[in-house]
Amino acid sequence: GADGKPERYISVRFLITGKKKAEEALQLFMDSANDAILTKDLNGKILSWNKSAERIYGYTEKEMIGKNIATLAPVDRKDEMKDVLQKIQGGQKISHFETKRIRKDGKIIDVALTISPLKGLEGNVIGVSTIAQDITERKEKEKTLSGLLTALDETALVSMTDEKGNILYANQKFIEVSKYSLTELLGQNHRILKSHQQPDELFVDLWKTISNGKIWRGEIKNRAKDGTYYWVDTSIAPILGADGKPERYISVRFLITGRKKQEENEKKENRQIRNKFISIVSHQFRTPLTSINWNLETILKGSFGKLESTQEKFLRATHEASLEITRRIGNLLTAMDIEEKRLTFDKEEVVIDNICWEVTQQLASKAHLKDISYTYTSLDKNLPDISADAEKLSRVIREFVDNAIAYTKPGGMVIASLKRKDDFAHFEVKDNGIGIPEDEQHRVFTRFFRASNAVTMYTEGFGLGLYIAKNFIEQQGGKIGFTSHLGEGSTFWFELPFAS
Ligand code: ADP
Repeated sequence: GADGKPERYISVRFLITGKKKAEEALQLFMDSANDAILTKDLNGKILSWNKSAERIYGYTEKEMIGKNIATLAPVDRKDEMKDVLQKIQGGQKISHFETKRIRKDGKIIDVALTISPLKGLEGNVIGVSTIAQDITERKEKEKTLSGLLTALDETALVSMTDEKGNILYANQKFIEVSKYSLTELLGQNHRILKSHQQPDELFVDLWKTISNGKIWRGEIKNRAKDGTYYWVDTSIAPILGADGKPERYISVRFLITGRKKQEENEKKENRQIRNKFISIVSHQFRTPLTSINWNLETILKGSFGKLESTQEKFLRATHEASLEITRRIGNLLTAMDIEEKRLTFDKEEVVIDNICWEVTQQLASKAHLKDISYTYTSLDKNLPDISADAEKLSRVIREFVDNAIAYTKPGGMVIASLKRKDDFAHFEVKDNGIGIPEDEQHRVFTRFFRASNAVTMYTEGFGLGLYIAKNFIEQQGGKIGFTSHLGEGSTFWFELPFAS
């Protein structure tokens, strides 16, 4: 006023809420980004510095604001920075420029830079913004991979496929060994190399492993274009895409055909030696046993005078035991014949009901002695004959009944029956015995299988009977199977076609 003192105040306010908010958001964005974001003026003086810049370069915001960007350049890259600044001054943007920078701790890192000019109101360049990505790890991986591939080129078969197994790349060694040309290989599925001589489970496991993002390693037998086979020690590694799912597979294979062939030969030789040994020993046992059996039978028939009942009882038991040894040796020899594919079958018209009755006669007393009720019934009268090897068929029927008696506790029940099922004769033996544990059932027909509960109950047994039975039935055009519940019982069955 007139007295020189303020008498009015005039204020002029500009709304800056929007601007503040924008600044805050920008700061937030800058701090949260994984990439280092920094701005500087045209002389290289740093104006802003985000959290990721702090992580990547090791300097805090406080340390860097006002400092020159040259601080980050390794000695041999100082000039490069000047060039970049010049280009930016001219209004140019530089994208994905890969270079090296030095961290606060002195470590040299690889970075990819995107550098853009910051323009003032009049469109003139007033500063520079830089987005830097730390690519040290990626660079190192690339270097190791390319080094590895070069080193492997001479010795390994290397290929890359897409997620479905279609070949995108194959190295020289791969082409040489598979005998396909590169053009034939590209786009082809890896399956063309499959030898079909290995179990499917191997490949199911392979796919399961690699499609879950893990490395699979194993030995694979492959087939070359000319039909020859080669073995490879294979490692397959998935390369994951952005969504975390495998989008490429790299496989590295080393040839091991020589070693595998040697192993196969050794296995075959060992098997032959073992089988020969078992055959010789078994035959050696069988001859004297035959004469023991024959002598016992003659005595039991009363050819040397009537036996006292105790004498007869003991001699019968001895005779039974001796027959059992003979049967076991017979099983061993049969198993050898199956393995060496030497099994031969007689073919004759067989009345299967008659065989069942014979076996019933032989085993009824055994069941009775163990207090097991045993019955056999033919459910259909006048079943047609079947064309089969009678002796082998008798062995299978005996095996089923014998097992049912052995694996059923005293007081139990064994029911054998024969019936027609379409064009087949269906024979089965049902018991209410110990059953077979579910997780062991898949091995029932394999050699030397004995279920854990059977071993504790009945210590003797070879585990060859059912293996032989399966071979006998299947090689005569029949089917064999069973159902079993632990602690409740089992039903073993087979079916053979009627003679046409
Ligand atoms: P072995 O009877 O000499 O052991 P097998 O090949 O005849 O050999 O039988 C193999 C195994 O199958 C037996 O050890 C037993 O565990 C199981 N098994 C066979 N039949 C029966 C059955 N009726 N009840 C329970 N388990 C059985």
